Amino acid sequence: MIRFDNRVAIVTGAGIGLGRSHALGLAARGAKVVVNDLGVDASGVGCSSAAANAVVDEIEALGGEAFANGADVSNSEQVINMINQTMQRWGRIDILVNNAGILRDKSFAKMSFDDFSKVVDVHLTGSANCCHSVWPIMQEQKYGRIVLTSSASGLYGNFGQSNYGAAKAAMVGLMNVLHHEGVRDDIRVNTLAPSAATRMTHNLVPETALDLLAPEKITPGLLYLVSEDSPTKTILSAGAGCFAQTRIFETEGIMIQGDVTPETVAQNWKNITDPAGQTEIPDAFTQTRKYAKRAAEAYDIKLNW
Ligand code: NAD
Repeated sequence: MIRFDNRVAIVTGAGIGLGRSHALGLAARGAKVVVNDLGVDASGVGCSSAAANAVVDEIEALGGEAFANGADVSNSEQVINMINQTMQRWGRIDILVNNAGILRDKSFAKMSFDDFSKVVDVHLTGSANCCHSVWPIMQEQKYGRIVLTSSASGLYGNFGQSNYGAAKAAMVGLMNVLHHEGVRDDIRVNTLAPSAATRMTHNLVPETALDLLAPEKITPGLLYLVSEDSPTKTILSAGAGCFAQTRIFETEGIMIQGDVTPETVAQNWKNITDPAGQTEIPDAFTQTRKYAKRAAEAYDIKLNW
């Protein structure tokens, strides 16, 4: 049985949609929950504490413990205040679910740079901000579970979402590095790529699929990602009760000896992109060593690396 008794969790953007479902799911299994939400509309305009307060009421009515916090995740001062408030109240932070998000969709040609920056600010800077503030606490505790929220738009692409897609793909980069930096202190960092019927996907999901794609179908996956026995450095894609792992592979590739030109690259394209023998590369320098070793072998150079 996965439980979160004596664990303290912060869920950002937890007033509605996926965040609300995650907050309720954590509280139902014993976690004390900070229900963070700025209370903006889908494009990031406005400010209201009503939704976050309502989630706190729901948790308390079920016998759980929670409080609402209205920090804007992209504002470091407000995030630090939220972290301080949590530490004063409960003395630790075990789980951080970076979920808050907005959309400002337009084709790249028509998008203002303000709209590009604003979306990157909320998703990427906002998530990094929250991670940065809880990091020393989790290091000290020698325990932490962090989830970043990505999207199929970033992993696979979607017309009209260059700002959102770039920010959501950046979650994978942030996870990859935080995994390496957190592993010795048992801080595990994972990424959730959800697909749900919420206000964000309003008008994109047919009426018949609304129940199938309920946020509650995704939360069990999130709960596993923040549990004691969670994996780390994993992208879990989820929706409608379906769960799959998204992975990045590198093909075995080839070593071009002698004169390397754009033409020799083009001539070898089939072999360069051949998926046979492709692998996951665990860290950046494993790739550098792979290349250097292959070249050293080809040129009969002793590398000792
Ligand atoms: P939603 O619009 O229903 O909820 C987002 C919540 O985030 C809102 O309550 C909003 O007030 C809050 N928020 C926005 N900016 C904030 C800020 N700066 N600080 C604090 N709170 C802020 O969205 P959702 O569909 O539940 O999405 C949740 C997350 O999942 C987002 O990161 C989204 O990008 C991601 N996602 C959703 C889907 C989907 O199918 N719904 C798909 C892929 C990724």
